[in-house]
Amino acid sequence: MEIGSIIIYRSGKFVKYEDAKVGMLTHGLNYGTGCFEGIRGYWNEAHGQLYFFRLAEHYERLTASAKLLMIDLKDSVEDMCAHTTELVRRNGFRVNVYVRPLAFKSAEEVGVRLHNVPDDFSITAVPSKAYFDPNAGLRACISSWRRVDDNVAPARAKLTGIYVNSALAKSEAIKNGFDEAIMLNSEGHVAEGSAQNIFIVRDGVVITPPVSDGILEGITRRSLLEVCRTELHLPTAERSIGRSELYVADEVFLAGTAVEVTGVIEVDHRPVGEGKIGPITAALGGLYRSITLGEVSRFRHWLTPSYPVAARKLGAAAS
Ligand code: PMP
Repeated sequence: MEIGSIIIYRSGKFVKYEDAKVGMLTHGLNYGTGCFEGIRGYWNEAHGQLYFFRLAEHYERLTASAKLLMIDLKDSVEDMCAHTTELVRRNGFRVNVYVRPLAFKSAEEVGVRLHNVPDDFSITAVPSKAYFDPNAGLRACISSWRRVDDNVAPARAKLTGIYVNSALAKSEAIKNGFDEAIMLNSEGHVAEGSAQNIFIVRDGVVITPPVSDGILEGITRRSLLEVCRTELHLPTAERSIGRSELYVADEVFLAGTAVEVTGVIEVDHRPVGEGKIGPITAALGGLYRSITLGEVSRFRHWLTPSYPVAARKLGAAAS
């Protein structure tokens, strides 16, 4: 499918991607005054259904990001969820999709500020492919770039301008021969990857930095903590992680909408554990995949189906 002919949602209407333009002076483009989401939809061939993973939670986070930027989202969370499933139906997607909602300051004028600037909103859905090979395991490095401090720009929100920080770290890592960057915060604690939250496993405890350590409040992160506790019966901890803990951890993995659960097998040239994907990472990754495909009934409430659910199934769910 040609990107230009994909139907997107823009300023309250469904239009062709190629007809949705922005001008050169657009505030968000010049000053990074926008916020966005990344949402995955999983096509389950056997169910004939496309499931969005934690759709409302993504739009709740977008609403919080917009508030930080003084953007007044006209659409409610329910409206945005409905537009997203409508996009799938209008485009007839029967493959995995990646959805990119974007709220941005749309004034075409010079002048950096947040207040009294009009805004615009779009949702674009495109067919998606795997970000990393989930079985390969990544080689990561500690970035020379620190994660933005909350008093510089709030990393907890998904703000477009902040992604310069991620891009600097990612390109440095790739150019130096690694697969991914791990950023420390201004205090030197482990924060997160360029676009993923980070977890370590030590002595059977699954540990991830707290949201007060300058990280994006990841939806996958939150979901995995719950899955660890309720399904794998593993103790979890949200606490600061020191850089050298990565070198001695039994397992390290990254988690996010795009990367799902991806093992890190090397950090700064030191093998993590035995230098291969660890058992907890593998178990969690497998379970996460099944959950996103709608195969685990206990977590079906995390999914939003895009196509009408057969009446027979609705009846069964109600009984
Ligand atoms: N951190 C950053 C900087 C990210 O861009 C992402 C991707 N949204 C994540 C963490 C993971 O967040 P989520 O699980 O909500 O996708």
